[in-house]
Amino acid sequence: MQPTATVRHASTTDPWSDEQTRQHLQVLVEGVAVLAGFEQSAISLRRGDEFEVVAGAGEGVVENIVGRRLPHHVVEGELAKADHWDAWRFVPHDRVGDEVLEYSHVPTAAEIDAPDAWHPLDLLTAPVYDDDGVLRGLLSVDGPQDGLRPGPERLALLQKYAGLARTSVLLALEREDLSRRVQMADEARQIVRSALGEPSLDLVLEACRAGVTRSFGAVGMWLTAFDEHDRTTTAWYAVDSEAEPLFSEIDDVVLALAHRYWADQYVAQFSRSRSVHPGLPAEDAQQLLGFLDRIGIGSVLFVPMGAGPQCLGFLALSRVSDTPAWTDLEKEAALDIGRDLGRAVANARALEAERSLVDELRQLDGYRVQLVNTLAHELRSPLFSVSANLELIESEALDPEAQRCLSAASRGTARMKSVVEDLLTMAAIADPQREFVPERVDLRQVLTDVSEECSPAAVARQQNCRLDVPDGPVWCDGRPEELHRMFANLGSNAIKYSDEGGDIDVRLVEEPQEVRISFSDSGLGISEEDQARLFEEFFRSTNPDAKARPGTGLGLAIVERIARRHSGRIEIESKLGVGTTMTVVLPRPSGSGAPAVTA
Ligand code: ADP
Repeated sequence: MQPTATVRHASTTDPWSDEQTRQHLQVLVEGVAVLAGFEQSAISLRRGDEFEVVAGAGEGVVENIVGRRLPHHVVEGELAKADHWDAWRFVPHDRVGDEVLEYSHVPTAAEIDAPDAWHPLDLLTAPVYDDDGVLRGLLSVDGPQDGLRPGPERLALLQKYAGLARTSVLLALEREDLSRRVQMADEARQIVRSALGEPSLDLVLEACRAGVTRSFGAVGMWLTAFDEHDRTTTAWYAVDSEAEPLFSEIDDVVLALAHRYWADQYVAQFSRSRSVHPGLPAEDAQQLLGFLDRIGIGSVLFVPMGAGPQCLGFLALSRVSDTPAWTDLEKEAALDIGRDLGRAVANARALEAERSLVDELRQLDGYRVQLVNTLAHELRSPLFSVSANLELIESEALDPEAQRCLSAASRGTARMKSVVEDLLTMAAIADPQREFVPERVDLRQVLTDVSEECSPAAVARQQNCRLDVPDGPVWCDGRPEELHRMFANLGSNAIKYSDEGGDIDVRLVEEPQEVRISFSDSGLGISEEDQARLFEEFFRSTNPDAKARPGTGLGLAIVERIARRHSGRIEIESKLGVGTTMTVVLPRPSGSGAPAVTA
């Protein structure tokens, strides 16, 4: 009887795909059948709580038995009552249990009439135990060709096959285990690579820790990252534990070790059963092993992490016991993961440095805004007093020379006033503390107001101003006073940098996603070099003709900041001596067809 058949058919899900190993076992079962004179033979391998038949010889065996499974406890039950024939176990038909019969394949060979005749329900199997005494497989034979239980001669041959079966079964299982581990290590690499897209180191770890520990057959892992001053931060994960170990206890030991291993591109395993721990002085080894004892870990794979020549930390994968030992393949995969995670640490560091630089700059910007604000406010009062006092002087009573001086002083204060006003506006819109609270604004209305305001200046220069706006309101989400200021600056520039009799066209165009507001003039135009610097604070054109016209160099810097605050942009089209078109492009608010809603 073949005890390795089962009624239910279980498909093979284990990595039973190594052709060479399979052939090896097949040759063995065929050899034992032919040379020891049996109709059938089969080899089963332990898979968890079951035995799976992986190779068979004899009529109908491959079709009927291979791939089937038998529960482990049933096998143990039969072996317990078997006669010991050296490495073989014989269970005579009258001792065979009912349960095993359920799972068995009984050959249909005729029984002969002799005292040592083989009974179809007799069971003969050679159990394969590993070095730890764990039952790992079975070699079974059935249906002796002479119809008799094996005599001493045949038994001697069978003993040899039992020895061979042991070697082959253990080898097959080892190879399977290895291929499974290769697969797992590859899987771990993939898991880490796909987690690298996460934006922070914590999230990278969170995305990969469960997968990596599972793939390595580990019970947990911890990752310690070093900063530029070798201060450590540790992220920790354990499958079954909540209490975080005190990793700082071993900082001194592991810091030096990680640097050294990264330089050597070396991965080490630490456990009590290893007498030598490369690069680790005996005292440090005791400290590390003591720590592992306290956290209930028997073995650790210590993987340095880094990028380029720089060691950035380490990854430790933990197992409860020293077996199975970490294979070279696992170490190789772990080192690869150390490199990938090293890059993630390097990125996180760079990002952190960038963030703190941005914070610093923002702070500086804050100081600058504050300074400009204070200065402008301080200047404003005396300036107003100067200009008010200048106005009080009755110019008619003065001689022509004094009159000239007075009007020069008045022009100067007027210019200073506009610089102060621009500085205050600039400080207000650049203030990082100032909140931007938009409301729904009708751009058509704002442009109409600005146009009316600019009209006297244009009329004075005999310029032809046209305003081309849609019939209905055009909505935008923003600050009305800022939008007004932006359009007023563009309008006054168009007038200022156009000669007498020039044409100025202001257009408001609605597009599906955006609103375009353009100011076109037939004025001086701007050279390409100047266009590149227009939005810099205090930039004034290099064109002497433009420079001769009064200005602060702050108008367009204000325009650009206001546009940015409104999620918009400025487009410039200009040709020296021909004219300029400045277009503000603003996003249309969602549901912009709706009536005006004041936020
Ligand atoms: P300001 O007009 O006070 O000098 P702006 O920041 O408004 O400062 O403009 C910067 C420079 O850009 C001006 O000095 C001028 O040379 C040039 N500029 C701006 N608008 C025009 C325009 N419409 N046509 C020609 N040049 C212009």
